[in-house]
Amino acid sequence: MGFTSQKIKDIPPYIFSEINKKKAELKDKGVDVIDLGIGDPDLSTPQPIIDELIKEMGDQQNFKYSNYSGCIEFREAVASYYKKQYDVDLDPETEILTLIGSKEGIANLVPTVVNPGEYVLVPDPSYGVYRMAAHLADAQSYSMPITEENNFKPELEKLPDDIKKQASLMFLNYPSNPTAAMVDLDFFNKAVAFGKENSIPIAHDFAYNTVSFNDPAPSMMQAEGAKDIAVEFGSLSKSYNMTGWRIGYVVGNKEIIKGLSVIKSNTDTSQFLPVQKAAAFALNMDQSVVTENVEIYRERMNAFVEGLSKLGLDVTPPDGSFFVWFPVPKGYTSGTFASEVLEKCGVVVTPGSAFGTSGEGYARVSLTHSVERLQEVIDRLRKVL
Ligand SMILES: *Cc1c(COP(=O)(O)O)cnc(C)c1O
Repeated sequence: MGFTSQKIKDIPPYIFSEINKKKAELKDKGVDVIDLGIGDPDLSTPQPIIDELIKEMGDQQNFKYSNYSGCIEFREAVASYYKKQYDVDLDPETEILTLIGSKEGIANLVPTVVNPGEYVLVPDPSYGVYRMAAHLADAQSYSMPITEENNFKPELEKLPDDIKKQASLMFLNYPSNPTAAMVDLDFFNKAVAFGKENSIPIAHDFAYNTVSFNDPAPSMMQAEGAKDIAVEFGSLSKSYNMTGWRIGYVVGNKEIIKGLSVIKSNTDTSQFLPVQKAAAFALNMDQSVVTENVEIYRERMNAFVEGLSKLGLDVTPPDGSFFVWFPVPKGYTSGTFASEVLEKCGVVVTPGSAFGTSGEGYARVSLTHSVERLQEVIDRLRKVL
């Protein structure tokens, strides 16, 4: 007897639950815990977006069901955003779908394109949802190591033939969580060519599209022939500090988008209209708040990287995203480092191994705290390093 399916039982215990337990214990003891574990912006949603939401809340028509694909105002806003930012043309009717956060779309994409038993190519380390979605769709994940040696880019030419034959989806994510690495358009051109040659659709997770410190991040849709083989996921969560609003989108290949909309129209009825309309406003408005946010992350990143370097750690400044990804000091594993830093310093960092086996030996911190708090972290770390 039991009410839990084998599929759910097979999911390993949530990696963060152990950390959260310890964190709660420390807090009970009165320790001022600084949590650099979660990637949830501390900055506020810009007021004009909130004002727009409130305005839309005054219209009873907005309390009805949305169109399954999302309201046309939002999809048109995504199209004009892509035209402005990337000079890419998208048809709002067939090449864009509203999502209840990009995580939802990523999870539903796997059963849209992958049959049970087939392979999903997943960067290692990466955002855990790719692998979990494969598991839930009875597919197998195949790790593509992304490490310092390969500049955090999967070596597509080294993938074994039998894996390529059985693979029916590949995930990519740049700016990358957790490695903070970026790629140029040339890499996307090669990835698209690889996908076409091997008939493997590509899903690019572009959640950090606006957070880059040197060059702007290219969209995969700018690559030659991208729409023939690829889709790209976008989100308002990180760019506009709207994680709890649950609004994102997927763009690109028509057939994949159509398939995904079949799953979605049978399991959800899109996002609350006022949220979609306020999100459309966000994409259409003057984007200077987004640039200002990036400057805030840059200041934090510089302070933190400098602090860690002074402590003798070998840190590469991130290219994009709001994470710093660094090798743990000699004598530690990812896990022992994270535990010791939590116990002795009251600081939560995420062990790199939580993102895949190639993440072992690294730690990830999230720059979602003020420079002062990050300075405090450096001061506390001095005790163990
Ligand atoms: C935060 C994050 C997401 C999820 O974004 P939502 O739109 O809030 O679901 C997707 N991918 C990566 C890599 C992320 O870090």
